[in-house]
Amino acid sequence: MRYAETGVNLEIDLSRGSIEKEGTDSRLTELHLGGLGTNAKILWDRVPPEVDPFSPDNLLIFSAGLLAGTPAPGANRTIVSTFSPQTLLMAYSIMGGFWAPELKFAGYDKIIIRGKSPKLVYLWIHNDKVEIRDASHLKGKGCLETEELIKQELKEPKAQVATIGLAGENRVYFASIEQGRSSASRGGIGAVMGDKGLKAIAVRGTKDILVARPAEFMELCNGVLKYIQNRADNPIKGVPPILAGLGSPQEMTLHDEEWHTASFAWGNARHRRKDFWNKEIEGQWKEIQDKAVERLISCYNCPMKCGGIITHPKLQRYMMKCYSKLTYTMAAMSDLDFGFRIAGLAQEYGVDGYTTPQVMAFAIELYEAGILTDQDLPGFPSDNEERFFWLLEKIVRREGIGDVLANGVYWAAQKIG
Ligand code: SF4
Repeated sequence: MRYAETGVNLEIDLSRGSIEKEGTDSRLTELHLGGLGTNAKILWDRVPPEVDPFSPDNLLIFSAGLLAGTPAPGANRTIVSTFSPQTLLMAYSIMGGFWAPELKFAGYDKIIIRGKSPKLVYLWIHNDKVEIRDASHLKGKGCLETEELIKQELKEPKAQVATIGLAGENRVYFASIEQGRSSASRGGIGAVMGDKGLKAIAVRGTKDILVARPAEFMELCNGVLKYIQNRADNPIKGVPPILAGLGSPQEMTLHDEEWHTASFAWGNARHRRKDFWNKEIEGQWKEIQDKAVERLISCYNCPMKCGGIITHPKLQRYMMKCYSKLTYTMAAMSDLDFGFRIAGLAQEYGVDGYTTPQVMAFAIELYEAGILTDQDLPGFPSDNEERFFWLLEKIVRREGIGDVLANGVYWAAQKIG
């Protein structure tokens, strides 16, 4: 009997088009702990360290954590591990949302993907049924758009879909994997998914997950819930924001935004604006935010509601997570409305909300310093905000200077000199 985990991994070879279900050894979980540790063990055993991240031999592993899908509060993470095109080292990125619990309910702990598909495909996992399906009609589609199209095609509104956008298809080194409420963005894992010709993984599961001592487990879970909700008693003074909705729409009017804008760098990681926040800004930003946030949402089995559904007249409705509204705002030295506008578009293209604004601010600084010129950026707008939108389009399509910037600051700097 296996508890918390299902004891089954899916092994998919996209070059051969094969799907295998492999029973796993429970001692590996004991030795290497949850999804991240066991992913690292698989990479250690099967992938040589000098592997080219865009080689068919590189693995892309989607894993649910040990407790995902159980009543443990907030245990909803999907861990995606691979060799990164950014660092050429092992990388992992983690997303919340609902995908990992759904994978467990379908009966699997991990999906281990190797090889490359000759044409764009997506995976459809519905309990015991697993299929590799044609995705040529989804080529170039945005992340939310893809999610919706797949659900309609499968007639499964409850399917959870993890997908890449145009940036992943074009192997942008900071492409993300998006999943409605959340995303796995770091390390260029979306680029590896795109390189494998895999547009998305849709999953729907209706099985149970066993827990060894349910009454005792529920008591522990209730204790954790109480701890999270009773913020005044949080003993970890100085780091309350992650439990209070870090950078989220939930409590932005107070110390969260003040803390971010004072503590993090603006522009291309050079400027500190410790005295930026004041009553006037607070009033303006609150008004922008109140208009943009339709309602607050949580990941699977979490009471924190740290994400928001955003409606903006210039954008399709989208779900904002983390504090990407500020990463773009601060990189462009702009205001919150700009942050909401560009973050929605960037999410649809599927790029990392931390790296992308930094790469764009880097390009603008090079332009202002005369290192990049009008010859490198033909048609570059004069308006600051327009420049960010312009660069985003170039990067996700790998057009012109975008092809250099799409490899991130480190590789772009080497190329530019
Ligand atoms: S809602 Fe926020 S705090 Fe809760 S699991 Fe998701 S990201 Fe974490």
